Amino acid sequence: PNPEATPLYDLLDRAAQAYRTWLRRHGDKDRAVEYLRRRGLSGDVAARYGIGFAPPGWDNLLRELGNEKELVRAGLAIRKEETGSVYDRFRDRIMFPIRDRRGRTVGFGGRVLDQGEPKYLNSPETPVFHKGRELYGLHECLQAQRYPDHMLVVEGYMDVVALAQQGLPNAVATLGTATTTDQVERLFRTTRNVVFCFDGDEAGRQAAWRALENTLPAMRDDRQARFLFLPDGEDPDSLVRQLGADGFRAQVGDALSLSQFLLKELSRDADVQTVDGRARLLERAATTVRRVPPGVFRDLLVDEVARYARVDRVHMERAVGGDGTARP
Ligand code: ATP
Ligand code: MN
Ligand code: MN
Ligand code: MN
Repeated sequence: PNPEATPLYDLLDRAAQAYRTWLRRHGDKDRAVEYLRRRGLSGDVAARYGIGFAPPGWDNLLRELGNEKELVRAGLAIRKEETGSVYDRFRDRIMFPIRDRRGRTVGFGGRVLDQGEPKYLNSPETPVFHKGRELYGLHECLQAQRYPDHMLVVEGYMDVVALAQQGLPNAVATLGTATTTDQVERLFRTTRNVVFCFDGDEAGRQAAWRALENTLPAMRDDRQARFLFLPDGEDPDSLVRQLGADGFRAQVGDALSLSQFLLKELSRDADVQTVDGRARLLERAATTVRRVPPGVFRDLLVDEVARYARVDRVHMERAVGGDGTARP
């Protein structure tokens, strides 16, 4: 318990309440409501995720909640260095409260209603908000399912709520950053099966590889990580709206296993028909597999890579280091 944090939680909660109220009652709310409707969201899902609206203007929240100093500390207001004057950070945006596992609001993501920049604005790091630790939607997922069979990891707020809208409430988003080992550990404390499902674009493919790297240290024999690659130009939001829940579930069923994705990436420009290519593949694989804690999963991975590179598993074990087997 951090005594400095308590007033911040309280303030963030009251801010979330204000944004929600403005989505229902503010004079400018129609554009926001229309925007959410156009994106296919029902009032029910918007309420479940506590979605709100920060109206245009520089001091709506400041006037509503007072307390400039604490609002700045909570990341909700910004103090101009030169003049010392304070203004609202979030203006004319759809507001997504980011809640911790227990449901306390720790920060916000805000999306512009039109083509403005930046498209998304997130809370800065504060005493209660650490981007690399939180997962957007985790609390709401656990409200819907105490023990989810699997969880989907997506990139964006809209992906999470669109999936929930279609009846798939078990998605969480990394907050526009690479998936961290800390987040993966959190996920595996909630479920045994994690399916990464990033956008079908270059950024999404890179995010998937980073996620794989940061998943390796968390791999245990009873944990499964898989990777779903979406068609070019699609993200989970656009795809689930096209395919519906069952269609999307079918895609999830076809996701690559960790080792399939690993081998696919490692064998890029490493031709296993040649000795040279096999040596290169082995070298790359060793670097990666080394990050997996000893155990059955690591042994199986070693087996699979060795078979794929058509080398004896002894060579692979030697490359990985130690004897490659299950002793800690
Ligand atoms: P939308 O469907 O609303 O256009 P998106 O989620 O598909 O948004 P992407 O461009 O795919 O948007 O980005 C994925 C995620 O990355 C966003 O949901 C957001 O969390 C984060 N992000 C995107 N752009 C920014 C930005 N300019 N600043 C901070 N975070 C961003
Ligand atoms: Mn994208
Ligand atoms: Mn996207
Ligand atoms: Mn999108």
